[in-house]
Amino acid sequence: MEKLKCPHCGHLNLPSAVFCFECGQNLHDFAVAPGIKPNFHSLIETESDHPDSPPPRSLEKVNATRNDRENADLYNAMLTCLRCAAINLPEAAQCATCGAALIVADEVYGLKITGSARSSVGQARNNNEDTVGLWARDGTIVALVADGMGGAAAGEEASRLAKETIQSDFTGAVHGSEGLKELSDAELADKMRFAVDHANRVLLERIEEDRTLRGMGTTVTLAVVRGDRLIIVHVGDSRAYMIAGEHGWISQITDDHSFVEALLASGHITSAQAARHPMRSVLYRALGQTEAMGGADFYARDVRAGDRVILASDGLMRHVTDEEIARVAMLHEDPAEIAQTLIDMTNQRGAEDNVSVVALVISAEEDTLVPLEKLVPIPGEQEPDHATHDDAHKTGEIINPTLRQMHNPGSSTPDSPDNS
Ligand SMILES: [Zn+2]
Ligand SMILES: [Zn+2]
Repeated sequence: MEKLKCPHCGHLNLPSAVFCFECGQNLHDFAVAPGIKPNFHSLIETESDHPDSPPPRSLEKVNATRNDRENADLYNAMLTCLRCAAINLPEAAQCATCGAALIVADEVYGLKITGSARSSVGQARNNNEDTVGLWARDGTIVALVADGMGGAAAGEEASRLAKETIQSDFTGAVHGSEGLKELSDAELADKMRFAVDHANRVLLERIEEDRTLRGMGTTVTLAVVRGDRLIIVHVGDSRAYMIAGEHGWISQITDDHSFVEALLASGHITSAQAARHPMRSVLYRALGQTEAMGGADFYARDVRAGDRVILASDGLMRHVTDEEIARVAMLHEDPAEIAQTLIDMTNQRGAEDNVSVVALVISAEEDTLVPLEKLVPIPGEQEPDHATHDDAHKTGEIINPTLRQMHNPGSSTPDSPDNS
């Protein structure tokens, strides 16, 4: 497979990537941001004690930040911008690098989705084969839990590759990152399924290239929340749960693709036997096994203010019950507290496996005004229309292009003085 070598950090990217997975470099315009890792701007700036002084930008500092994050027992995923692939703090309303709106309330439903994605190595393992991811653009959130398998290095590589493929297929204008809201549920599910199938092929090709990785695989539970809809595409035995804000009831959305679950479902064993079964972590469906993979399951649900969505690797379910997950999820408004509390509970109980939790909280927002996007031009994308934004600011018109188009269905593109 042809790979795109990043001119900045040397990472071999997937052919579909627009931005480098490791450093955020625009792979199709090598002239921008030489010598700077744009992915880490926002992280470094938040560390600065003096807001007026320029942020430190040496490569050593950037690499130190990165190594600290990777070597920590706990990985707290940052929020990746779907427009430019830069990372931001998980609650960022606007991308610090490109100016795109990230965590904002939906203009139609008035719902805001906040998220936290965390992963811990646990108490019994030496390495973390789980991967979590969190991406956003214009109020739409994309979240991932992947649980790798096949031995230490292979398991890590499998879940990492799944995340890289999904990021490359969702990030950048060419992959429709700005139009996720406009897709129907079916179109969005197709896009998610395509990314998961793509990740499966990437894993198989990687195994072909390097036979020492034989046997590597990963689960994928990929969720997109936008407006009042939750869409999930899923393979393996990680899980997605929904907790209804109204009464705190929890329901498991996904089915486990494990032999033991199949035995349980067909009545061959009891749930008590399933919990102790020696084959409980053996999957009949996962990425990296066969070309066909058996297909990814697809689920869609309505979400309302107060609801919580939890994605988790099986390391959580070994130690924490569904009822406890529901109680913790309803106890906190902040998704970071939900994710951290569930991971702490698992670690206190001996965490036999890596444990990953993504918590998403849906809340009602009184003020649904989308912040003014001050978009930084990205080579290969249409120039941002600053003039129209300024006009809107003066007259109080609708500033969101999508919403403006809904109100003026005749005009497909906003009027721009640059066009005349
Ligand atoms: Zn790079
Ligand atoms: Zn951005």
